[in-house]
Amino acid sequence: MTIISKYVALKNYIPTGLPKEDDFEIKSKTLELDETNNIHVLNSWISVDPYMRARMTERKNYKPPFLLGEEMEGYAIGSVQESKDSQFKEGDIVFSNFGMRDNFICKGGDLKKIKNSNLPLQTYLGPLGMTGQTAYIGLFNHGNIQRGQSILVSSAGGSVGSTVCQIAKNLGCKVYASTGSDEKVDWLKNELNVDVAFNYKKIDNLVLHLKEICPEGFDLYFDNVGGDFLESAIFRMKNFGRIIICGRISQMNSTSVPAGLKNMAHVLVKRLTIKGFLIFDHENDNEPFETDMRNWISEGKIKFKETIYENIENAPKAFIDLLNGKNLGKMLVKI
Ligand code: NDP
Repeated sequence: MTIISKYVALKNYIPTGLPKEDDFEIKSKTLELDETNNIHVLNSWISVDPYMRARMTERKNYKPPFLLGEEMEGYAIGSVQESKDSQFKEGDIVFSNFGMRDNFICKGGDLKKIKNSNLPLQTYLGPLGMTGQTAYIGLFNHGNIQRGQSILVSSAGGSVGSTVCQIAKNLGCKVYASTGSDEKVDWLKNELNVDVAFNYKKIDNLVLHLKEICPEGFDLYFDNVGGDFLESAIFRMKNFGRIIICGRISQMNSTSVPAGLKNMAHVLVKRLTIKGFLIFDHENDNEPFETDMRNWISEGKIKFKETIYENIENAPKAFIDLLNGKNLGKMLVKI
């Protein structure tokens, strides 16, 4: 049987600025099963993630640049269509890094089986996937979060941020959530029950605003955005506060070299800890994350929303819209 795979490829590197749809192309190629690559998978859900932006430049990063004209990678959930590997059979649901395409062939070692689950499959790209694990590992392994503390979260209406907010609320923390639209503010306040949510785009003086909403200062800041927001948060940390550097989306598309932090004196005087982490260093740290997250989801203690675009042709738009904040919760493409 001839297999035709349709995929997203990067046409040119994008050293600065926001990507445009014209920077991508939808291509197709013919695939054939062989002795090594002996499993055919049809994707059903594709994850769209900010880290992909870093792979669209030629700069050195923690993952190599995407190859121009070739399939972009990314996380995906799909079902096995045909298998000559005795470990996999038709109908098996699998997780892979063969996203940004509608179907593919690979070997068994490239796939992770998803066992019977009553959860929607795309949950394995959201709260039970990389973004949920990022929230969990960031808070517990790096943030040393403690019951009752005050925690500030940026990009709180997104996939990582909304999970961070809910884990912290479940621990009895006081949660202050920053996000970029009134719709996201409503969701955070009314459904996720954070203590304070605000639209950072409507705030003139962020340092003053943070002082107003939390005069005693924050124990922990979960930083998804970097830049000016990070600088403002440093001013409002408590002594011995911790800042977890998870992302820097406000600087990902900068057209000039981002300015450095001007208030390092506060880091010294307040004896702050600033710590970066990458979830890719925690690929084997599945427990207790998976058990806790499954329990929380089934008990209704972690809720999630998804923004879904349909068909592989719309994946570039989904990615650009993610960078522009058009997603509420996890950005996904349904194939
Ligand atoms: P999100 O679902 O949070 O989507 C990205 C969001 O970033 C947008 O919705 C937008 O929301 C916000 N944003 C875009 N531009 C700006 C800006 N200039 N200033 C402030 N906010 C902006 O993505 P994820 O949940 O997948 O990821 C969240 C962060 O975590 C990202 O920075 C990502 O790179 C990082 N990350 C880090 C990992 C690690 O291993 N350290 C692993 C996974 C993710 P808004 O409407 O609020 O502006």
